[in-house]
Amino acid sequence: MSPSDTADPGLAGGVLTIDLDAIAANWKLLAGRLTSGAACGAVVKADAYGLGMAQVAPALWRAGCRTFFVALPEEGIALRSLLPEAEIGVFNGCDEDSASAMAAARLAPVLNHTGQIAAWRAAAARSGKALPAMLHVDTGMNRLGLFLAEVKALAADPAKLAGITLTVVMSHLSCADNPSHPLNGEQRDRFREILALLAPLGIARASLANSSGIFLGPDYHFDLARPGAALYGVAPNRDVPNSMNQVILLQGKILQTHIIDTPVTVGYGATHRAERGRRIATVGVGYADGYLRSLSGVASAHVGRIRVPVVGRVSMDLITLDVTDVPEPETRPGALIDLIGPNHPVDALAQEAGTIGYEILTALGSRFARRYTGSIR
Ligand SMILES: *Cc1c(COP(=O)(O)O)cnc(C)c1O
Repeated sequence: MSPSDTADPGLAGGVLTIDLDAIAANWKLLAGRLTSGAACGAVVKADAYGLGMAQVAPALWRAGCRTFFVALPEEGIALRSLLPEAEIGVFNGCDEDSASAMAAARLAPVLNHTGQIAAWRAAAARSGKALPAMLHVDTGMNRLGLFLAEVKALAADPAKLAGITLTVVMSHLSCADNPSHPLNGEQRDRFREILALLAPLGIARASLANSSGIFLGPDYHFDLARPGAALYGVAPNRDVPNSMNQVILLQGKILQTHIIDTPVTVGYGATHRAERGRRIATVGVGYADGYLRSLSGVASAHVGRIRVPVVGRVSMDLITLDVTDVPEPETRPGALIDLIGPNHPVDALAQEAGTIGYEILTALGSRFARRYTGSIR
């Protein structure tokens, strides 16, 4: 077992295999779409969408990525110890409590409002040197970022940025996964207007596109893209087949298999009725592992290419599957069933759960044995 692998597969309820080469290939694929020379960053917040920042970020660095984004100061500090030379932006920004630690770790907070600008300006004054920061302007998400009036006030009074070196001006798209949504173009146009207002401040790079934004075309690329989900295999565009490489294989281990000899119900709530002759396998993965309870009775898993439906309720540590169609030797205790894999990608499971691939990935718990594969590790 290599140092980056965790837990013994023999002791866990399932195995999560993460292909670092596929993540690197996805990054190159996205970078290759930025034909006008924009740089491609990488978003590794929430422990690289649940897949392990400690393994994923160095793999992306080796693939050529130089700019990384996280959400929290704590994530940025952890990333700094992994990547001493990377540019690291922190989406949630800074406050008086976090600014000094962020400056010490050479993080660039994304300054979302005037209070954050003041906190970072004070940190720069304390440190006696210019500190890098990114500026978030709102263009229609109405979640984080300076509003137009605040942008104008800032442009009129650049002293508010004393001691701050703005490296990036960014905004975030609300509907990028839906290419026909009119808000995409409106946000792009507002972003351009704001960039023009801020130009006298001597702005560095402009950044608008997340994963899906990259696929809206060169108009959305500006100087720096910020993909997250697509790196991890989630489909960036709801209208076209997924062009990203699948990254994870999630397998659950069979604990017990039994053949139904008289019709019975299976699991909590007795929601599934199994007829005589069906074979039911119980697997040691449940909602505590992020296999969402909303998958009860609707999810598919696979043994090789054979589809096996999840029947009955998802329990905390267990699921039950109808494996009648699978040859018996492959359903004995210890055998592995693919819960997410080549025949059932993360988006397919997300659809069954009524959610998005992002939530499936970030919900995957810490109880799986994790294996990292790929030559880039
Ligand atoms: C999470 C996030 C991203 C990455 O978005 P994906 O859809 O995962 O590519 C980019 N920018 C901001 C501000 C984010 O919060």
